[in-house]
Amino acid sequence: MHILSFFLTLLLVAGPQSIIPRPVDYTTGQGQLVYSDNVQVKVKVADRKFIRETKDLPEWSKEGAYRLTIGRKGIEIVSVTETGAFYARQDLSQMRAVSDTLQYCVITDWPRFGYRGLMLDISRNYGDKEWIFKEMDAMALLKMNVLHIHLVDGAGWRIQIDSYPELTRKTAWRIGETYEEWTKSGGRYSEEGAPGASGGYLTKEDCKEIVARAAELHMEVIPEIEFPGHSNEALVAYPELACEDAAGHKVFNSDMCPSNPATYKFFESVIDEVIELFPSKMIHIGGDEASRSAWKNCPHCQALMKKEGFTNVAQLQSYMNHRMAEYLKSKGRRLLGWDEITHGGLPDDAVVMMRETEDGKKPTPHGHDIILTPDTHCYFNYPQDAPFKVPAAFATYLPLKVAYDFDPMESWVKPEDRHHVLGVQCCLWTEYSPAGEYSEYLLYPRAFATAEIGWSPRERCSDYADFRERALVLLDTFKDMGYGTFDLANEYGDRYEATHPVRHLAVGKPVKYAEGHGWDTYWYPSTGETALTDGLFGTWSFKDRRWQRFYCDIDVTIDLEKVVPIHYIGATFLSQRIHSVAFPVKVEMFVSKDGKDFEKCGESTYRMRDEAQVTGDYMDFGAPVNVEARYVRFVAHRDPAPGHSALQIDEIVVN
Ligand SMILES: [Zn+2]
Repeated sequence: MHILSFFLTLLLVAGPQSIIPRPVDYTTGQGQLVYSDNVQVKVKVADRKFIRETKDLPEWSKEGAYRLTIGRKGIEIVSVTETGAFYARQDLSQMRAVSDTLQYCVITDWPRFGYRGLMLDISRNYGDKEWIFKEMDAMALLKMNVLHIHLVDGAGWRIQIDSYPELTRKTAWRIGETYEEWTKSGGRYSEEGAPGASGGYLTKEDCKEIVARAAELHMEVIPEIEFPGHSNEALVAYPELACEDAAGHKVFNSDMCPSNPATYKFFESVIDEVIELFPSKMIHIGGDEASRSAWKNCPHCQALMKKEGFTNVAQLQSYMNHRMAEYLKSKGRRLLGWDEITHGGLPDDAVVMMRETEDGKKPTPHGHDIILTPDTHCYFNYPQDAPFKVPAAFATYLPLKVAYDFDPMESWVKPEDRHHVLGVQCCLWTEYSPAGEYSEYLLYPRAFATAEIGWSPRERCSDYADFRERALVLLDTFKDMGYGTFDLANEYGDRYEATHPVRHLAVGKPVKYAEGHGWDTYWYPSTGETALTDGLFGTWSFKDRRWQRFYCDIDVTIDLEKVVPIHYIGATFLSQRIHSVAFPVKVEMFVSKDGKDFEKCGESTYRMRDEAQVTGDYMDFGAPVNVEARYVRFVAHRDPAPGHSALQIDEIVVN
C-alpha cells in the first residue's frame, strides 16, 4: 500500500468515539470492516438467554436498548425491540457519514430517559409538513423520540378542524410573511386565498403523514392546542369564546372565557378531532401565560367564582384544567401542560412541562410526572453566540456549553420526586426564526446537547470538551445532509469583560441609590447594592446575576472615599425592546468633593433608532472628563415613549 493512502485510510476510520448521544458503553477491537452493500447486518432479538447472560439485566428491559457489534463476521445488532435495532442503525448512520471504514467495536446502549423531546412552534412562523419531516429525520439520528408541535397561538391556527372551519379559513392567514413583519403591521389576520395573505396550516392528511413518518422513526408526536391563553386567533375566529364586560360587550384579549359553556364545547370538539389524528398518550393543552385579566370583570366568570367559592382567578384556570383533564381521561389520554397549570391546583394525573425553575421560584410539583425544559438550558430561540455574531434574537445567551451543562435530576428536582422525571425537551420558539435554515442554525448543535442529556448516563455526559469535539464531527454530517447549522468552530464566546474582572477607581466603593430609584430586586437582584461597582460586567445574558433592571430613571452616587483625579465616567446599557428594555435617552455625570455641591461634568445622549433596538443590543454611555472629586453621581434618563419602560445596567466605570 502506498504510504499516503495508508495514512488516509487511518484518518478516515469511523468509530463509536464520535457518536452523539454518547453510548453507555463501547469497546473497540483491532481491525476494520469496510462497509458496502454486501455487508450483512444481522438483527437478532435479545431472548431470555441472552439477557440472562448479560450483566446489565434491568437495563435491557428499557425501550430502545441494543448491542451493536462490528467485527470480522460482519455487523450484528441484538435488541429486545425493533426500536433498539433502529437506534443501532442510527449509530451506523453516524459512523458511515464519517467513513465507510468502520472500526471493529461493540456498543452496548440504552436510554437514560424514556422522553427525549424537541418542540417546534409552527404558529408564529409556519413550517410545513416537508420541513417537519426534515427535522424529524435529524431527531431520529439523535435518538430523540418525541416531537411536540406547538400548533396554535395568537400568530396563527395551524391545524385543520372541521367542526370549527373559521379557525384555519381566517386565522391561519395573516398580513406579513414573518412573525416580525406581522407584529409590525399591527398583527392583522387575513383570509385563505386573499391577496397578500401568507401562512398555512396542516391538513388532516398532513397530520396523518407526520404521525406515520413518526412511527417509522420510532417517535411519538404530541400535539399542543393552547387553552385558555395565547388564544387571540381563536377569539377572532369564534368571538363567542371571549369573556364579556359588565355591559355585556365581548372582551378580546388573549384568553378564552373559562366560564362559558361555548369554551368547553369548543375544547371537546377540537380535542375529539385532534386525538383522532394523534395517538400520543399525552395531549398538550398549553396553559401558559393566561393574563386572566378579563376574568376579573366578566359576569360569567364572577358568577362561577361565587358558585365554586373561588377567591382568585387562578382557580378558574385550575377549574378549567380539571374539566379538560377529566375529558381527556375519558378518552384514554393524559393532560400535559406548561408549568403554570400548577397554579390554583393541579388535576391528579396531569403531567407538567417545567420551563422556569430558576432558583426554585417555581418548585417542581410534588407527586406529578414532569418533563424538564428549563428556558435557561433548553430554549434554543435564545442566541448561542455574542450579539454581534448572530442574527436578531432575544438578549440572552445560551451557548452550547450551557445547553450541555444541565442535569435534569441534580438541583432541579427533589430526590423524592426524581422518579417522576419522564425526560427532557428542547424548544424552538419562532418569533425570529422562519422555518428553514435559520431555525436549524438555532437548533444544531444545541439539540445535540439535549439529545445526549436525555439519553446518556450522567457520568457519560459531563465532559464538555469531549462533547464539543463530537459535535463538530456531527455538524459536518448535518451540513452534508443539507441542514443549516451554527458555525461552532468559529464561536466567539461570552463577553470578555464578563469573564475577566475589571479594575477601575469605583471598584468596591459604596453606591447610594437616590430615594425612589431602586432596581427590581425580585427578578433582577444582581449581586446586590454593590453590583454597579463590583468590577464584574454582565454576560451576554440579561438574566444573569450581573445586570440590574430599573423601572425608573437611574440616580446613584458613588463615594470614592477620597478626592482623586477622574478622566472617564461611563457604563454599558442593554436594550431589548421585546421586554420593554431600552437604552437611556440621556446619561449625565456629576462630581463633588464634599458630597453636597455637585457639578455636571459630562453627558452622553442617544436617539432611538427603531430598527436597531428591537432585539438584544449593548451600548456604552460614557464621557471623558477632567476633574478631581470624591463623589460621582450617575443619572440615566429613560425614554418616555411607550414600550421603553426599563433600563438595564451592569457596572459604572470610573477611571
Ligand atoms: Zn369570562
